Amino acid sequence: MLISSAFDSGNIEIIKADDPSDVRLAIRKDNNSDFYQWFHFRVSGVEDTPCKLTIENAGGAAYAEGWEEYKVCASYDRESWFRIETEYDGTTLSWEIEPEQDSLYFAYFAPFSMERHADMIAEVSDSPLVSTSVLGHTLDGQDLDLVEIGYGPEGRKKVWLIARQHPGESMAEWWMEGAFDYLLDQDNPVATALLEKCHFYIVPNMNPDGSKRGHLRTNAAGANLNREWANPSMDRSPEVYLVREKMAETGVDFHLDVHGDEALPYNFIAGFEGIPSLTEKQMKLLKIYQDLLCIISPDFQQEFGYDVDAPGSADMKKCTDYVAETHGCLAMTLEMPFKDNDDLPDPEFGWSPQRCRHLARACIDTLHHMVDEL
Ligand code: ZN
Repeated sequence: MLISSAFDSGNIEIIKADDPSDVRLAIRKDNNSDFYQWFHFRVSGVEDTPCKLTIENAGGAAYAEGWEEYKVCASYDRESWFRIETEYDGTTLSWEIEPEQDSLYFAYFAPFSMERHADMIAEVSDSPLVSTSVLGHTLDGQDLDLVEIGYGPEGRKKVWLIARQHPGESMAEWWMEGAFDYLLDQDNPVATALLEKCHFYIVPNMNPDGSKRGHLRTNAAGANLNREWANPSMDRSPEVYLVREKMAETGVDFHLDVHGDEALPYNFIAGFEGIPSLTEKQMKLLKIYQDLLCIISPDFQQEFGYDVDAPGSADMKKCTDYVAETHGCLAMTLEMPFKDNDDLPDPEFGWSPQRCRHLARACIDTLHHMVDEL
């Protein structure tokens, strides 16, 4: 039996792997940080062999409540990621399987590799509606890609969509794949109508270095990008610095920052209720958007989510608060589950790349319904 993680977004440390029935593992911390929870590794040499895998340091992960009722993602072909029940005892997380093939992969959520990201950027570039640009380089020297979709910003609403500030939240880039498919389908009347009114600025992966390194929450320097918006720097958080500069140049009329939540088994939106210059119009738009998305997608709900910020308690280090305050627009954080949507559970796959793509379409439909209010 062999275990490896020396690949894109790989993360695992081997404590003991000489007995398939008692494999002991640990998740590696993000570089320069205490955060950890993302894992992704391959087990080989195990066909028809009963295996029990235990992550010994699960209890110390960033969001330990994320392990309760959690089912691990597994795949033989790296395309279809099915779920396996786990046991969490407050300290360790373990699961059992008798693999049907020689090797299989396990991950916290279906991975979205930087190779797939590069393929996606190359593919969308083919559309006459798209122009791509590289905003600059990350600390590891990777490209920070911006995709613009539309006929030009003049006279149109500037719509910003960003994802994966937290690199372990790979569901956010599956969402982006759905958004691109939907917006670039020239037979889609919603896209056609929306592109008359909006110009899209899309950063499908805000954190390429953390993604490749197999981090949960930070970039190469250990910076949590969603705490860098008040004062980003090229030394520590070039990803935020470059996007913030571009936003200042283009202006922002609508902004959605796509994330995943470890603990809550629901899709929900977090707003900006604590910003100093909150307007009635912003609050009205936030309500309209969420009410409409509830109608359009049974995968969205408003009952479960984060506590609403008290007036004046905003944290400008966070993207949504910063953008809502600076640009006076509707800015939202969309959270998807690592586990499943408990309102519409899927025992086999849980919350999946396919469901992420559908939710992206619903979010764009919702924008189409209310774009004239912006
Ligand atoms: Zn996040």
